[in-house]
Amino acid sequence: MVKFSVRCGAEIRKRVNAVSKSKRSKYFCPACGKKKVKRKGFAVWTCRSCGTTFSGGAYAATTPIGEAGSKIIEDLKKS
Ligand SMILES: [Zn+2]
Repeated sequence: MVKFSVRCGAEIRKRVNAVSKSKRSKYFCPACGKKKVKRKGFAVWTCRSCGTTFSGGAYAATTPIGEAGSKIIEDLKKS
């Protein structure tokens, strides 16, 4: 019989720590610019200062893909 443990593998533990750290930390609000954004649910982020709720990454407020997307939208608005 094989028993599985949550603690098997140092690499997995490291990854779990990184994810839980980034989902607990605060982020800058895109609406008011204050560092008051906290994770509300899966990919849902809310600003504690102005009350803005927006979607973002699952475990971090912004993702590299999301940032690239908003840059493209800004460029399109300018032209
Ligand atoms: Zn805000």
